[in-house]
Amino acid sequence: MNNIKKSLMDFTLEELQNSIKPSFRAKQIYGWLYHNYATDFDEMKNIPKALKEELSKKYVVNPLKIANKEVSSDGTIKYLLQMQDGKTMEAVWLKMKDEQKDEDGQITQEAKYTICVSTQVGCKVGCAFCLTAKGGFTRDLSAGEIVAQVVTLKKDNKHKHNRKINIVYMGMGEPLDNLENLSKAIEIFKENNGLAISAKRQTVSTSGLSNKIDRLGEMDLGVHIAISLHAVDDELRSELIPMNKAHNIQSIIDAVKRFPIDTRKRVMFEYLVIKGKNDDLVSAKKLVKLLSGIKAKVNLIYFNPYPGTTYERPSKDDMIAFADYLIKHGLLCTIRDSKGMDISAACGQLKEKESNI
Ligand code: SF4
Repeated sequence: MNNIKKSLMDFTLEELQNSIKPSFRAKQIYGWLYHNYATDFDEMKNIPKALKEELSKKYVVNPLKIANKEVSSDGTIKYLLQMQDGKTMEAVWLKMKDEQKDEDGQITQEAKYTICVSTQVGCKVGCAFCLTAKGGFTRDLSAGEIVAQVVTLKKDNKHKHNRKINIVYMGMGEPLDNLENLSKAIEIFKENNGLAISAKRQTVSTSGLSNKIDRLGEMDLGVHIAISLHAVDDELRSELIPMNKAHNIQSIIDAVKRFPIDTRKRVMFEYLVIKGKNDDLVSAKKLVKLLSGIKAKVNLIYFNPYPGTTYERPSKDDMIAFADYLIKHGLLCTIRDSKGMDISAACGQLKEKESNI
């Protein structure tokens, strides 16, 4: 534990420029980190040896190692990443769109990817359907550990730094429970001399800490938010997400209405559909009412059963009937295809497997 160092990825360019002299070296180092995906000081060819030695006494380059990865038939890759203290967390590489080619076989549009990142080891929220919750909370991730997930996955998939990528903060942990490090990571991602991932491409998914939604809104970072709503009445929601008792549905809806959103954009509401719990048309009707007045998009997610759960996957017919009702009543709605079903891609499942080994 004593050997744990900060990572160069914990710092904004401005912070590095303030601490590394001459400051143009900081920009060069940023290039090594985010354009060349360097993992070791030795790779930084144009940086003087003395400076590298000095930096290596205090910092590591990339604080993560790939401990395991599972590749799904649909192109989803789930990574188990290990940090300096030996703790592990997950990040997922999701292929959202295949590349497109013209008749001559020339690529007309490159494939599109999203990276799902973690913000904590474990989680305090305790959602009933979540394996991460079962392991309890261990610690927050540093900004560098959040940033390094994207760098590590891009490098492993040979995805050039200037290719567009979307980030969803939807892995292990409640992002707003680690707001300080999350907001710093968002800024580091946005840096033009680094990965230059605009805020519009970053979505913070929260289980609904209404006071922190307000705080994120005040920071005005330009990111999108997604709300894990999952239920339309407080009784069921408290059963699924115990902290709903402190942040009930109405407080979340009110916070969303206050959140600064690009007028062209919509707030995503995640709704995990569980057979016999929230998959009926009465729930659909309540959902329409609840979201009236919000420019919303609803993402219906099939519950992905895991060993030991009592919850069940809804039928396709019920799912479609639910979606149809929302669409007929003016809500944008998608059904999330279960990416990575064959590799246990619900949050926390890979880590759970690892700890059973
Ligand atoms: S679903 Fe997300 S917020 Fe809920 S316990 Fe799991 S990691 Fe935490």
